[in-house]
Amino acid sequence: LVSRKKRPEDTVISIKGQEIGNGNPLLIAGPCAVESYEQTALVADAVTKNGIRLLRGGAFKPRTSPYDFQGLGVEGLQILKRVADEYNCAVISEIVHPQDLEMACDYLDIIQIGARNMQNYELLKAAGKLNKPVLLKRGLAATLDEFINSAEYIMSQGNGQIILCERGIRTYERATRNTLDITAVPILKQETHLPVFVDVTHSTGRKDLLLPAAKAAFAIGADGVMAEVHPDPAVALSDAAQQMNIEEFQEFVEELVSSRFLK
Ligand code: PEP
Ligand code: MN
Repeated sequence: LVSRKKRPEDTVISIKGQEIGNGNPLLIAGPCAVESYEQTALVADAVTKNGIRLLRGGAFKPRTSPYDFQGLGVEGLQILKRVADEYNCAVISEIVHPQDLEMACDYLDIIQIGARNMQNYELLKAAGKLNKPVLLKRGLAATLDEFINSAEYIMSQGNGQIILCERGIRTYERATRNTLDITAVPILKQETHLPVFVDVTHSTGRKDLLLPAAKAAFAIGADGVMAEVHPDPAVALSDAAQQMNIEEFQEFVEELVSSRFLK
C-alpha cells in the first residue's frame, strides 16, 4: 500500500492548514523533552516567530538509562496542547504504549513512533487504526526494506497519513552519534509515495553538523527536517549536547532561508 507502484502520486498530509509532502519544505522544531510549560512556551514563541508551525517535544522519553529523565508523561502532552492553542501551531510527540494512542490523539496533531519502536508491531497496528498522522522513525539498525514494511503495518490497518523520518543508523563510525543515511531520502521517495523527513539532531548528535545536514536533506529531496531547540541547552534534561539555543536556531532558520532551502 505504501509503494509508489500502487499509487504514483505523492501523499500530502494536511495539518492545521499546512501541507506536508506537497513540495514545500518544512521544519519540525522543539525541545528534546517537554520539561515545563515555561520552557515549551519559550521555544514555541521562537519557533512560531520564525514562521514554523510544527512544534515537537517528548513527553514519554525512551532513554538508554532507566535513571535518566523519563519525561513528564500525560502532563507533557497537556503542556503541548496548551502551547499549541496559545501559539497556533501543530504539536508532535512520541507515544510508546499502544494503549496510550487514543488518549494522545486528544492532545497531539501528529503521533511520533520512535526509532526504538519501529518494529513494535502491536504499536504500529494500533497506530494504523487512528485517524491521525503518524511520523515513523527509522529503527536504530533497520534496513530501508524493514522501515518500509513498518509503514506498511500502519497503512494496512487503514491509516495512510504516514511521514517517514530518517534519523541515522548505527554503524562503526563514532564521529557522529549515528550515521545519517542521506540517500535513504531519494530511495524512500522512489519506493513509496509518503513524505520523507530527516532528523538532523539525532542522526548527527552534533550542533556543528545540523546546518550542513539540513541543507543536504533538502538538496536531496526531503520534505522536511526535524531539529531540537531548547531555551538553555546546558541544563536540558535530555540531549543537552546537541540542542540549539534560540539564537542558534534563529541563525539556522535564516541560513536555510537565505540559501533558499526554506521559504
Ligand atoms: C526523539 O525524536 O525524541 C527521539 C527519541 O528520537 P529517535 O527515536 O530517533 O531516537
Ligand atoms: Mn533528543
